[in-house]
Amino acid sequence: MSRPEVSVVIPVYNEQDGLEALFSRLYPALDALGRTYEVIFINDGSRDASPAMLREQFQRRPDVTRVILFNGNFGQHKAIMAGFEHTRGDKVVTLDADLQNPPEEIGKLLAEMDKGHDYVGSIRSRRNDALWRHLASRTMNRFRERITRVRMTDQGCMLRAYSRGIIDAINSCQEVNTYLPALGYTFARNPVEVVVDHAEREAGESKYSLYSLIRLNFDLMTGFSVVPLQFVSFAGIVLSMVSAFFVVFLAVRRLVVGPEAEGLFTLFGIAFFLLGILLFSVGLLGEYVGRIYQEVRRRPRYLIDAVLERKE
Ligand code: UDP
Ligand code: MG
Repeated sequence: MSRPEVSVVIPVYNEQDGLEALFSRLYPALDALGRTYEVIFINDGSRDASPAMLREQFQRRPDVTRVILFNGNFGQHKAIMAGFEHTRGDKVVTLDADLQNPPEEIGKLLAEMDKGHDYVGSIRSRRNDALWRHLASRTMNRFRERITRVRMTDQGCMLRAYSRGIIDAINSCQEVNTYLPALGYTFARNPVEVVVDHAEREAGESKYSLYSLIRLNFDLMTGFSVVPLQFVSFAGIVLSMVSAFFVVFLAVRRLVVGPEAEGLFTLFGIAFFLLGILLFSVGLLGEYVGRIYQEVRRRPRYLIDAVLERKE
């Protein structure tokens, strides 16, 4: 099979209302690039008309379209992983299906790759999402900058380009839960970032609940850093030292002032505070242990129902 120059990977989950608009902008934008390409859609267990629409699009443009149909909803990053495993292109671009990442910007990313960069990240010029997501994402960006070695201005934007070498490296990783832009970054030799446009969702609603966003951020923090664990040890050391001083102080007071029984509620306050830290630490440890558990079970990361591609 001939290798196209560019593979575009698009995860799709219940996007029936926006897919037609995506097709009508994506293909002309790619045709205009003057490069050979393939588009790989991954249907992540949609329960709406999306799989049927992807099948139809495959019939329309079988020369450049391939469709992977999952048998359930495994999540955006696993869908992209499956897409990566099926790519044949020399350069691989990821894109959201909801047209928040304009397909017309793909050329900008590829131009950077032509200059020799093996990883092109992106910064959304003005982000069109809910305000609370802006703020949460800015905080998480800052936190991640501090605790991991991953350097990116805007971790949330999925419009990115990767060289074949990075894709092969990602494909050789077998981890269950990961954050692909960060994983790709760790393999990059010469990364760069470009500013891209960001639109409002074409149709439908965000597929991320607050819960899944929190899960995803834990994937990023625990998957690329053990600093949270070290924080816990340091907090333990500091608290033990403070407590030791406090015990000495109380012993001296006992000798000087005599027995005291005041301050019961202060004691409660301190105890609850420490209990909170303890519970948080156990939970944090659990995040790591849970991930190790998922790894050792070695269950398949996703199940593929069918792959639609033209046989040559
Ligand atoms: N998506 C997916 N599986 C999921 C959730 C999302 O394949 O479980 C896809 C979705 O169809 C879209 C992309 O991932 O193409 C980004 O999702 P969304 O736009 O909902 O995320 P947001 O832009 O709100 O961060
Ligand atoms: Mg979106």
